[in-house]
Amino acid sequence: MSAANTRGRRALIVGGGIGGLAAALSLAARQFEVDLFERASEFREIGAGIQLGPNSIRALQALNVSEPIAQKAVYPDALVMMDAVDGREIARIETGLAFRKRFGAPYGVIHRADLHGELVAACIGTPSIRLRTGHAVEGFSDQGDHVSANTSVGTFDGDLLIGADGLWSNIRQHIAQDGPPRRSGHIAYRAVLKTEDVPPHLRRNEMVLWAGPKCHLVHYPLRGGHLFNLVAVFHSDRYEEGWNSFGDPQELQARFANVHVDVRVMLGKIEEWRMWVLCDREPTATWSRGRVTLLGDAAHPMLQYLAQGAGMALEDAVCLGQLLADPEVPIPTALVTYQNARCLRSGRAQLTARLYGEFYHAAGVRRDIRNAFLSSGMNSEGLAWLYDPQPSF
Ligand SMILES: Cc1cc2nc3c(=O)[nH]c(=O)nc-3n(C[C@H](O)[C@H](O)[C@H](O)COP(=O)(O)OP(=O)(O)OC[C@H]3O[C@@H](n4cnc5c(N)ncnc54)[C@H](O)[C@@H]3O)c2cc1C
Repeated sequence: MSAANTRGRRALIVGGGIGGLAAALSLAARQFEVDLFERASEFREIGAGIQLGPNSIRALQALNVSEPIAQKAVYPDALVMMDAVDGREIARIETGLAFRKRFGAPYGVIHRADLHGELVAACIGTPSIRLRTGHAVEGFSDQGDHVSANTSVGTFDGDLLIGADGLWSNIRQHIAQDGPPRRSGHIAYRAVLKTEDVPPHLRRNEMVLWAGPKCHLVHYPLRGGHLFNLVAVFHSDRYEEGWNSFGDPQELQARFANVHVDVRVMLGKIEEWRMWVLCDREPTATWSRGRVTLLGDAAHPMLQYLAQGAGMALEDAVCLGQLLADPEVPIPTALVTYQNARCLRSGRAQLTARLYGEFYHAAGVRRDIRNAFLSSGMNSEGLAWLYDPQPSF
């Protein structure tokens, strides 16, 4: 079926992660008919937490999905950095009322399955969105007046195609042609712990990051405080590949052998870890070509140290919807405007995330400098570029 023969404008979205689902909602709100293709046979997210800065929450508000998500989120009282060697607190940003007032939205954390599930539910509740699981997109062709997606199930035509197909995006290879992502040499182990298994003095309603030499541990409560999310990261060149595979608890204990007992006790509580080889890319300003563009990790994959990959994907979705609102603007023009509107901000997040990683993992004199710098006073103003409202939302 050709898009030229259809009345409304039609968007094809590749990928049913947080970015693709958010884009579907954003475009449906601008009167697009949306076909979203997900290669997996069902929608799912991993059992882990995700942090939502005020900018991410504002984007969810713009997508009209913030209410059910707000009910499932937990709102930590502070973001805290501890020195993982001597167990001292080195920095604290309070995220209570004053923070909410300053940035116009709270700092939340949520189980990924809850966030993803609410986005799926909102898409299911939107008649103009068709969620097509079990549809792997194998290629596309931009015909000038429309674009076709070739899927494992058949060919679909639309007015534009959005590659929201994640870190290993195939669509990106047709646009930016910059090869595979960059392996950082950092490995993340993730797990969720029942709160009753967390030592009582660590059951804090805070996002706590223990910064150690070439390693760190993050923990925060989830689901009304019944669960704790754990992310342990360490340097290793041992792994070339590895995505959502099982981790080796003994290796983890060895990498964290010289850190504070609180960290080791937390790590020791987990029997089954999931492992990620962490990757990112150099920022690029080339996301859009003709009727095709990229969104989320496909456009700007970043290390998780700023906790902003999903936040940037949500912002992309809002921005793209706004720029496609006017049917008089040619779609290729709107896609280039979108790319230009987003690439500096998301690129800054990509590069800042790398710097944060170095900061977290500092050893020796670097660690002393970090601790002296952070102990001399830290507040949320350093993150204002990230959390302040953007011109468009
Ligand atoms: C350890 C860790 C912690 C993180 N913590 C945070 C955090 O606290 N806050 C935050 O904001 N971000 C965080 N992030 C980043 C965040 O998880 C990602 O940026 C975000 O999930 C990207 O969403 P996406 O929709 O762009 O891509 P993805 O979630 O990767 O979704 C892509 C989808 O496309 C599908 N797909 C791929 N190829 C095809 C194809 N050919 N055809 C059809 N479907 C296809 C895939 O199956 C997948 O469902 C973290 C990341 C990691 C690794």
